[in-house]
Amino acid sequence: MDYFPIFLKLQGRPCVVVGGGDVALRKVRLLRQAGARVTVVAPELVAELAELADQGEIAHRAGEFAEADLDAAVLAIAATDDRDVNRRVAAAGEARRVPVNVVDDAELSGYITPAIVDRSPLVIAVSTGGGVPVLARLVRARLESLIPASFGALAGFAARFRDVVKARFDDVEARRTFWESVLEGPIADAVVAGNVEAAEAQMAQRLAEPDKPSGAVYLVGAGPGNPDLLTFRALRLMQQADVVLYDSLVAKELLELVRRDAERVFVGKQRANHTLPQEDINQLMVRLAKEGKRVLRLKGGDPFTFGRGGEEIEELAARGIAFEVVPGITSASGAAAYAGIPLTHRDYAQSVTFVTGHKKDGSIDLDWPALTRPQQTVVVYMGLSTARELCAAFIEHGKAADTPAAIVEAATTTRQRTLTGTLSTLPDAIDAAAIKSPAIIIVGEVVSLASRLAWYRGGNPGAGEGSKVQNGERGE
Ligand code: SAH
Repeated sequence: MDYFPIFLKLQGRPCVVVGGGDVALRKVRLLRQAGARVTVVAPELVAELAELADQGEIAHRAGEFAEADLDAAVLAIAATDDRDVNRRVAAAGEARRVPVNVVDDAELSGYITPAIVDRSPLVIAVSTGGGVPVLARLVRARLESLIPASFGALAGFAARFRDVVKARFDDVEARRTFWESVLEGPIADAVVAGNVEAAEAQMAQRLAEPDKPSGAVYLVGAGPGNPDLLTFRALRLMQQADVVLYDSLVAKELLELVRRDAERVFVGKQRANHTLPQEDINQLMVRLAKEGKRVLRLKGGDPFTFGRGGEEIEELAARGIAFEVVPGITSASGAAAYAGIPLTHRDYAQSVTFVTGHKKDGSIDLDWPALTRPQQTVVVYMGLSTARELCAAFIEHGKAADTPAAIVEAATTTRQRTLTGTLSTLPDAIDAAAIKSPAIIIVGEVVSLASRLAWYRGGNPGAGEGSKVQNGERGE
């Protein structure tokens, strides 16, 4: 270890920054976040520093650096672009035992400043010993994505219970186990969701009965299939779950991201072939949560968009079981983006409507007068098997037969295929290409943009299919 990491207490203490440019400004901001009393030594200041000085937020000693500037300092930073000045600051610090950092100059520096992830009171500092700052920043970026923004609140919450928990468990090991289950469980989730009251109540209950963990259900949108389109929250929950309930829309690649020793339950769900009736799924979730499990209900796309998410949590709410809903990218958004079809566009569509092409009582029950109005985009979920009827109905209710229409199969995945055509050509194109589920239909002028805006080629390299975008003829 070339450097010894410490966290310095700077509240109200005098620190000196030499230099008045943008680099100095960044350092001043950091020092002020830690509550330091900052004096900037420089002949001139950039506008923002000058403003801080005018407001009395920092002191400005106008002029060239003089050794005596460090007399009262506990910490100093040299941020000028003149190496001689920086060297003099370093030497003055050395003589006074004041630690000096020279920005981007490990050789002259008495200490180095780490890359920081700030979730105060949780602070993570990353350093590569000044050698590869870019690497430190990359690590920092990873940590930023790994650690929820709300961890600060969680740290604050936990700190309040520190003494109570300490008194409750004499045994260090028992205390550690307890904290682990709190910080990784539903109590933490409640804090993160801003539900401090519920978190406190659960905390009281856990302290009374430490061996009875509280379960919870997480209704999580897994997006349209491409693992890169998961949310951070979804990924974190996937890595903590005890049990995962998933259905056929959830891609295999996604399931591989679930914690390895989590139990996996396939609850099916394909049209007309429900492996587990909805009611059974609801009961299963209730039972598992009551056993103290963290249940992940993983759903394709977004759970609140044609996902029956509402029905599933109604039961949980009624039974007083803790739950959380995590949105996912719905397949309409995924397909639109990956097929180069903007859902709205100033010239072509001022609104977009999501409907289901699913038959109810043997017919497609939709508000056709509304759907056939001009200047809008209609996205049809679950419309593959009824595509021919759908296209015919659009035309029958007044849409022009040459209205652009597209179908996107397995959107956002490596298996994505896009067919574009018109209301009159699309059904035959679908048959000819043997499009399979899941597939989504987009109807409207915006579809014509795909020929220019499609950027995703899908496919595994070497699969030999090259571009999978196929354009049907527009018109007859
Ligand atoms: N909750 C899901 C929708 C479930 S309904 C969501 O928000 O996306 C099931 C329908 O979603 C399928 O019939 C299909 O129309 C659509 N769908 C789901 N994933 C898809 C994908 N990767 N590509 C195209 N359509 C998809």
